[in-house]
Amino acid sequence: MTAVLIDGKARALALRESVAAGVREFVAAHGRAPGLTVVLVGDDPASAVYVRNKGAATLAAGMVSAEHRLPAHVPEAALLALVAALNNDPAVDGILVQMPLPRHIDSDKVIAAIDPAKDVDGFHPVNAGRLATGLPGLVPCTPTGCLLLIEEILGDISGMEALVIGRSNIVGKPMAALLTAKSATVTLAHSRTRDLAAHVARADILVAAVGVPHLVKGEWVRTGACVIDVGMNRIALPDGKTRLTGDVEFEAAAVRAGWITPVPGGVGPMTIACLLANTLKAAWARSI
Ligand code: NAD
Repeated sequence: MTAVLIDGKARALALRESVAAGVREFVAAHGRAPGLTVVLVGDDPASAVYVRNKGAATLAAGMVSAEHRLPAHVPEAALLALVAALNNDPAVDGILVQMPLPRHIDSDKVIAAIDPAKDVDGFHPVNAGRLATGLPGLVPCTPTGCLLLIEEILGDISGMEALVIGRSNIVGKPMAALLTAKSATVTLAHSRTRDLAAHVARADILVAAVGVPHLVKGEWVRTGACVIDVGMNRIALPDGKTRLTGDVEFEAAAVRAGWITPVPGGVGPMTIACLLANTLKAAWARSI
């Protein structure tokens, strides 16, 4: 391996400490702590783990953490009514409805019902539009975390070739918008892209957010590239156990890359740290 391993855990810890310091300032100024409320519908075990981790991180940062658990069969109207109540609750600065939602609920409708000022996931069309047009707003956590890692390593990325693979609203598209705002030359690849290898070979910065284990072959990676692997894929091992792996062939890519994130321990911890940062930002913005 020649690439430098990007330590997302350490970077996330530093960000969480700075958020905790910001929370102390907020409490001194306003006499209350910022509050993040998470809504979990159904009993998907992976979602339950995410929600538990988010709650623990919120408390550790000195913020108020609240959780609402609704049964999988809850009517859409009841979920929308809860969101409306949280929008109107002055103690709630951030609202996060854990995705995915059960099939009978229209997630776009639920996202659109959240007050954009409390939309700490940054998924509301108003916040997506703000990002696309260069206005300040709440930006999705995962791409924000990726950009922090990229800029810490590369500094000014103006003019660099950046390839984002995946065009979801939560990772790929906002990632492309953030890199564009930093004046990188951005290519957004997706399932219909022809000759992905040729695009990867040109990229100084590669962000893979697909959900297909080892889609990006190590031999495609440009020498010295900064490789950010967002993919979180659980694969079965011969002994019957499972492990998490990314979208990039880690060992082969690490021979060529300049820097690379591990999976787990790269982007994942940054996502939660950025959620806390967004909650603090939302609290300050609402209290001005
Ligand atoms: P998604 O399924 O919404 O989008 C996947 C994208 O990949 C699509 O835009 C699709 O066009 C593209 N794609 C599919 N096959 C492709 C191919 N063969 N070549 C090129 N592009 C292809 O997924 P998502 O929600 O954006 O998540 C992507 C991955 O990132 C998943 O593994 C997810 O678990 C992970 N993720 C991790 C974090 C984190 O905090 N680490 C956060 C969010 C998502």
